[in-house]
Amino acid sequence: MDAFQIKGQILLSDMILALKQNSLTDMQSIPKSDLHSHGARGGRVSYIENWAGVKISLPPKVFASSDSVTALSTMDKWFKENIRPHCLGYRGHLKRWEATFAQAHSDTVALLSMSFRSVEIRKYFDRLDDFIKTITEMSKEFAANTIILPELTFAREDCDTDYEFVFLEEALSHGFFKSIDICGDEFAQPIKNFKKMFKYSKAKGLVLKAHVGEFGTADDVMEAVEELELHEVHHGNAVYKSPQIMNWLAKNKIQLNLCPASNIMLGIFEGYSSYPIKKIVEAGIPVTINTDDLLIFNLSLSEEYLNLFNANLLDEYELDKIRETGLSAIHRYNEKGLKGG
Ligand SMILES: [Zn+2]
Repeated sequence: MDAFQIKGQILLSDMILALKQNSLTDMQSIPKSDLHSHGARGGRVSYIENWAGVKISLPPKVFASSDSVTALSTMDKWFKENIRPHCLGYRGHLKRWEATFAQAHSDTVALLSMSFRSVEIRKYFDRLDDFIKTITEMSKEFAANTIILPELTFAREDCDTDYEFVFLEEALSHGFFKSIDICGDEFAQPIKNFKKMFKYSKAKGLVLKAHVGEFGTADDVMEAVEELELHEVHHGNAVYKSPQIMNWLAKNKIQLNLCPASNIMLGIFEGYSSYPIKKIVEAGIPVTINTDDLLIFNLSLSEEYLNLFNANLLDEYELDKIRETGLSAIHRYNEKGLKGG
């Protein structure tokens, strides 16, 4: 058993107290997990502001959209216009990763599954060894108390699966990545196209995940879990519409890594009051709470827990159970993260 898990259990009553007292400072000191964080978008906006010496305007409350593609492209457009100009090139990209580590440290994220896109690795590094060395050193410097679980992610809209399979083989030979994911536009290509990549990753002992059921349906979630043998689903919020599929997920202990602020800002739900987390929890599905793209949604994990509590969606005991589920996800990984607990 890892030290942070034991520590997490001791602090159980602290979490309940922190929520009841609505104390952000106390919440920030309690060990938590963030199992869905896009690595180059996981820092605080203020971290980039301080580095670049600029003021960045807040994002809109909702990235107006009529469908998933529009919502995601509106979000990307906002990011390109408001954040990226202040952290350009290699130095800027490193600063964004650094911001993610610094945020994990300041919010006591004990377990961070941090994703890296295959294209971003190739864009900035000729050799995987250099990438791995950079991330390892940075994590030690800025998030020494956090266990980092590097995740390799492929965007569904621009993934040539034959080409990426070759990269996957090379990437996994380093033993650095602990999980695989598919992100981006859920409707860009059939999930079965990724079967070979996931089968290979499974044989290498990786935890298998994919973005699905965010804009898609409960059936899409079930299909992805079956085709790719997923352990965890990033988002999967659509499952609340199908009691049968929720039962099936609960029976098979498939974990949903929910990201409420992301779903609300992308217009999937009108607000916290209609967010279906209670229904999903009551169905018996293992659930975690995560930040997704903190640099865009501008909401920390601690703030997200407080928002869910203050919206009366879940009580303090249910939220603490979710925190424990997240921390105990370490059991799924056959090796420790970058530093070990
Ligand atoms: Zn995501």
